[in-house]
Amino acid sequence: MLEKVLIANRGEIALRILRACKELDIKTVAVHSRADKDLMHVRLADESVCIGPESATESYLNIPALISAAEVTGASGIHPGYGFLAENADFAEQVEQSGYKFIGPSADVIRLMGDKVSAINAMRKAGVPTVPGSNGPLTEDAARSKRIAREIGYPVIIKAAGGGGGRGMRVVHEEADLIESIALTQSEAGAAFNNPTVYLEKFLQRPRHVEIQVLADGKGNAIHLGDRDCSLQRRHQKVIEEAPAPGIDDSKRRDVAAACTQACIEIGYEGAGTFEFLYEDGEFYFIEMNTRVQVEHPVSEMITGVDIVKEQLKVASGMPLDIKQEDIKFNGHAIECRINAEDPTTFLPSPGKISYYHAPGGNGVRVDSHLYDGYTIPPWYDSLIAKVITHAPDRETAITRMRNALDETMISGIKTNIPLHQDLMRDKEVIKGCFSIHYLEKKLDM
Ligand code: ADP
Repeated sequence: MLEKVLIANRGEIALRILRACKELDIKTVAVHSRADKDLMHVRLADESVCIGPESATESYLNIPALISAAEVTGASGIHPGYGFLAENADFAEQVEQSGYKFIGPSADVIRLMGDKVSAINAMRKAGVPTVPGSNGPLTEDAARSKRIAREIGYPVIIKAAGGGGGRGMRVVHEEADLIESIALTQSEAGAAFNNPTVYLEKFLQRPRHVEIQVLADGKGNAIHLGDRDCSLQRRHQKVIEEAPAPGIDDSKRRDVAAACTQACIEIGYEGAGTFEFLYEDGEFYFIEMNTRVQVEHPVSEMITGVDIVKEQLKVASGMPLDIKQEDIKFNGHAIECRINAEDPTTFLPSPGKISYYHAPGGNGVRVDSHLYDGYTIPPWYDSLIAKVITHAPDRETAITRMRNALDETMISGIKTNIPLHQDLMRDKEVIKGCFSIHYLEKKLDM
């Protein structure tokens, strides 16, 4: 087992990783910016190192500072969490070259999946269903692009191979706009991602976001922990997630999940990962893979009993995956609400001092949060301050538990989006389930 792990992250996920390390008897190193010395996990870690000033560029994104911190503390592995450098292949490579274990897949696999064109090609080869599209980059050949779009049928979407965070995409409704839109997306992608490559795919009009959680050991073993529905989104940011995704045919979901585990084996995937799909009219369409632990991983943990972060640490220690697919029993339904320090109607960030904090509790309630009374949320980073997760034998009870849990939660001193969650947990369409990725924005527009 890895002896000492440096946690290259902050907030709730740093605390989540610390807890898993403690359960496995792994020593921990917390790194933090100057703004973050009071973070909960910094207090609980065996050692801590200040890696730079407030700005993330100079601290949590500062590769030399992170590697130096590993060196001075004698860490054996680095856990990147999510966000920051978690999907940065250069970081993974430098960590490994400096003699530390990067807790995640190899730099080559991160690179392969980080380029959407190569990711989609690899997935198609492995039998994972993808969106009908250009199957590769668009070229200067305008007639070819028009022919591809016509064969797929409008509307189509032009996407940057290097895009991310919902940027670098353009929907085209008719042929007259196609060539100009391709040129525009190419030049924007060149400027924003330093990669002008674009591709084209069918634009799905009312899809759901359904994703599949996998675990693999890079030694020929891979399993899945089922699916999650993350369709409640605002500006491509997930707000509420649940597992399993409601209303999906069991044999269909099993087939797609099996294709994902097969793909993991084919690309030599190691660690935890997520295959993201759009789901429309009973069909799955792969859009991208996240090569890291995700914010919403707890809902899969609740319905399977598997600790995803502990599995990441075990696999990174060189142990073969000791859970078999047939060991996984899906149990009940879980929902997660992301609690953000923000105004519930304007969505403007609301950093500041927590004057009072009371977390919800009871049967089937889990809270992943770094908050405590008197903690000051700095203005520099992501506004996620807590994840409230409920688990119950069925979806209806999980929703009722979430309503109760949200009503019990008290956070004073700052604004939070709890009122939005309370509203959504009473919303008829949300209660019914199976809404598209546009539902929340349409509702907020009304
Ligand atoms: P990013 O890496 O920027 O998140 P994705 O490929 O995951 O890019 O796409 C982000 C979002 O854009 C999706 O969640 C979906 O809302 C929308 N989108 C992407 N591709 C399509 C498509 N073919 N049809 C409809 N919507 C799409």
